[in-house]
Parts: sequence; C-alpha cells; structure tokens
Amino acid sequence: MRIVRTVEEVRAVRPSLGRLGFVPTMGALHDGHMSLVALAAERCEAVAASIFVNPTQFAPHEDLAQYPRPIEADLAKLEAADVALVFLPAPETIYPSGFDTRIEVGAIADRLEGAVRPGHFSGVATVVAKLFNIVTPDIAFFGQKDVQQTRVIMQLVRDLDIPVEIAIGPTIREPDGLALSSRNIYLSTTARAEAPALHRGLCAAEDAYAAGTRDANTLRQLIEARIRQTKGVIDYVSIADPDTLAELEVIGAKGAVVSLAVRFGTTRLLDNVILG
Ligand code: AMP
Repeated sequence: MRIVRTVEEVRAVRPSLGRLGFVPTMGALHDGHMSLVALAAERCEAVAASIFVNPTQFAPHEDLAQYPRPIEADLAKLEAADVALVFLPAPETIYPSGFDTRIEVGAIADRLEGAVRPGHFSGVATVVAKLFNIVTPDIAFFGQKDVQQTRVIMQLVRDLDIPVEIAIGPTIREPDGLALSSRNIYLSTTARAEAPALHRGLCAAEDAYAAGTRDANTLRQLIEARIRQTKGVIDYVSIADPDTLAELEVIGAKGAVVSLAVRFGTTRLLDNVILG
C-alpha cells in the first residue's frame, strides 16, 4: 500500500493502477467506509482511498478541530483491505496559499443539509472535484447514508463533464439499526440508547408505504412521533423527490427519499431510506 501526501506522488503512482476505484473519506474509518472499499475492490483492478478532513465543508461553529483522526488505525484497516493507494493530503496541499475557487452546485445543494449548513455542499463539491482531478478514478464510491451528498456529486459530475462513474453503496448499520457514523462516538450513553429511533421511524415509514400510504405528511408524522419519544431535536424530516430532493406532498410513481437529521446534544445524526 502506497501512502502519499502530494499531488505529484499520486500522479506518479496512478498509471500503474489500471481501472481504479476511489473511496474519498474523512477518516475515522468504520465498516460503512470499508463496505465501499469492498465494493470498489469487486468492481475495479485497484482501490485508492483518501483521508482528508476538509475544512471548507465545516462551518466555524462545527466540529472540525474535534473531528476524530485515528490515522494509524485507519491505515491498518485500509492495508488489511488491500487498498493500493492512500492519499493523505495536508490542508495546504489541497488549499495552497492563493487558492480562490469554489464550486456551487444549484438547488439540490440548498435544501435539507444545505439549508441547515450553508456552504457545506460548496465545500464538498470543491474538494471532491479536486480529488477527482488528482486521483482520476474510473469509479468513485459514496454511501447512501449521505444521500444528499450523492445527489450533489452526481449533479457536479454531470454538469462539469467529469469522466468518473459514481457508484452508491448501501447504509451499514449497528445491530440495533443505528447507521454507522464517525460521529456516533460523541453520543452520550442515553443518546446512544435513544439514537436507533431514527431507524425505527424510517422503518415505520417503509411499512406504511408498503401498506399503501402515499401521503407525505402521514409518513412525516409517523417518523416525528418516534423521534419525540427521545430527547433528540429534529432538524428536518423530509419526504422528497428522489432526483431533485424537492419536498413532496404525495408520493408518485418515482417513489421518494425519506431523510431526517436529529440532534442529540451537539451531535447531529442523519439517516434515510428510499421508498419505491
Ligand atoms: P465520511 O468519512 O463521513 O466523509 O464518509 C466517507 C464515505 O463513507 C461517504 O461516501 C459516506 O456516505 C460513506 N459512509 C459513511 N457512513 C456510512 C455507512 N454507515 N454506510 C455506508 N457508507 C457510509
């Protein structure tokens, strides 16, 4: 496994890697990240991963400084998964002095997470575009866990003609349904015990949809009722068009993305399911 920190080193190694799968991450790797590495290994000759806690996608009050960085453990996991190349850039490598470009994806980046975290997806789109230009993967792998991020990146790649296929892996969960996240370690014991309510709410919505409910408000209320049984504070519960993520009143033939964000203390948890 080659561990490299500069753009030049990535470019020097890249030609030897053949059809390349790429998994961009912020580190603190868990089985969710590793499932994307496994998918990449299935579909490609070699796998590259990046670990970069991207400062431009964090607002000043967010947890950039506290974000977990267990780099040795991360590298051991990537090595065990037979990853060929790990890109570990310093912030100055990605944003050298004089850097002055930002990518703004349109409407899809403004709603949901984009409304709660202004500028977040501009930071994501800019760093992902840079990583694609540096690594030049054939396929890049993202988790459905961050469903809006997958849609923003698909829009970015389409609009800027970036020659990469975007593949999406399913959400990996704890046995009690909580979606794996690097931020779960911040949860207090009580919040950790209550956090599976997000998944329970989504399952209730899936069951109601399977039983024929198509009214978005009815599904929203089912989910909100589960969250209200906890100390979690709802940022949003969304029943949205699968392509545009615009809110729906009635779920049509295309189905819906049901997503929610809930705060337990200062920790925000995200989860979603796709209906239909
Ligand atoms: P992050 O390190 O949080 O930026 O995540 C890196 C990639 O892993 C993103 O594409 C995430 O959507 C994905 N990911 C995070 N959590 C999970 C999970 N529980 N299951 C599957 N993929 C995940």
